[in-house]
Amino acid sequence: MEKRLGIYIHVPFCIRKCAYCDFYSITDFSILTAYTDALIAQIRAFRPLARGYLVDSIFIGGGTPSVLPARQIGRILSALRATFRVSPSVEITMEANPGTLDAENLAGYREAGVNRLSLGLQSADDGELARLSRIHTRRTFEESFLLARLEGFRNINIDLMYALPGQTEQRLADTLSYAVALGPEHISFYGLKLEPETPFGKDPTIASQIPDEDEQYVMYLSSVHTMESAGYTQYEISNFAKDGMECRHNLKYWHLDEYLGFGPAAYSFFDGKMFSYARDVERFIMNATDLRLLFDEYTVPSEKELAAEYVMVGFRLRRGIDVADYAARFGDDFDARYAKKMKPFIDRRYIVKTPEGYRLSLQGMLVSNYILSEILEF
Ligand code: SF4
Repeated sequence: MEKRLGIYIHVPFCIRKCAYCDFYSITDFSILTAYTDALIAQIRAFRPLARGYLVDSIFIGGGTPSVLPARQIGRILSALRATFRVSPSVEITMEANPGTLDAENLAGYREAGVNRLSLGLQSADDGELARLSRIHTRRTFEESFLLARLEGFRNINIDLMYALPGQTEQRLADTLSYAVALGPEHISFYGLKLEPETPFGKDPTIASQIPDEDEQYVMYLSSVHTMESAGYTQYEISNFAKDGMECRHNLKYWHLDEYLGFGPAAYSFFDGKMFSYARDVERFIMNATDLRLLFDEYTVPSEKELAAEYVMVGFRLRRGIDVADYAARFGDDFDARYAKKMKPFIDRRYIVKTPEGYRLSLQGMLVSNYILSEILEF
């Protein structure tokens, strides 16, 4: 039987760097075409390994993929179709930033095959957006969203953030109401993390302006409530979707299914190996088809490590761990291995028993890192 595969394409270019972001991206656009050529060469080099796989999700992320003209996105997708067997019902997501979209490129992306857009709003408050150094305002976002609808996109995600410096519960509630009123099919909702190598991380005044843990707790719970009341089911700690509109690609990460990443900083889990490429565009362009010169990390995890990884990512999902699936994949008894360690969390209702296995409660999701560090064996 054909195995399913997800493909991730990294587009490491941004118009300017946002103050909080440590994703790998650069602001020099003079090498966009050379970069696309290198991506295509790398994709083609995977032809001998593509046999036996059916690609059912493609995610073009960044960076800001919408800085690439539709023609280049079309070339990348054509190379993928020429190399891999791609499902006729493939989900093809492209991340895009408001301020980089117009009717022409949106129509071109659709024509190239993109059928899901992920738009970064982050906040609907112009003051917060300026603080984050986003390139757009609430109005620019709204124009992009409506234009995408007009151009026929029926599957749109909006990215939101909370726990921003100086953010009040009311301002976050306004952002949530604004986002759900637009009626996207999917909402991603992440708390800001201070990354040490970013302008926010280096500014000692920022940390003191971030809402404290208790405030974040209230913000998270009330936002989950707003989204659930508006018809968005929380299917993962930070992700919410209308019925049937979960992100197929991201589910692969949480199910520990196979995916192949292309581009600097991209991660892969493929054929039992986990690997990533160095964060260096120029090195990537020069050595796109010689993977040995690109690897940043390369590991062949043991069965035991994979089983622990499966538990770690599986607990992120609302449906949690399916013990029968765990046993089928790893030949291991989940209850025998974890019941004792889970007991204190079950007693406090951080972990809940389900017909299939176990999941985190909403309260458990808020402290998921702590729970996992207590029960997992690495
Ligand atoms: S646009 Fe996205 S990837 Fe680029 S710097 Fe901002 S947050 Fe990071």
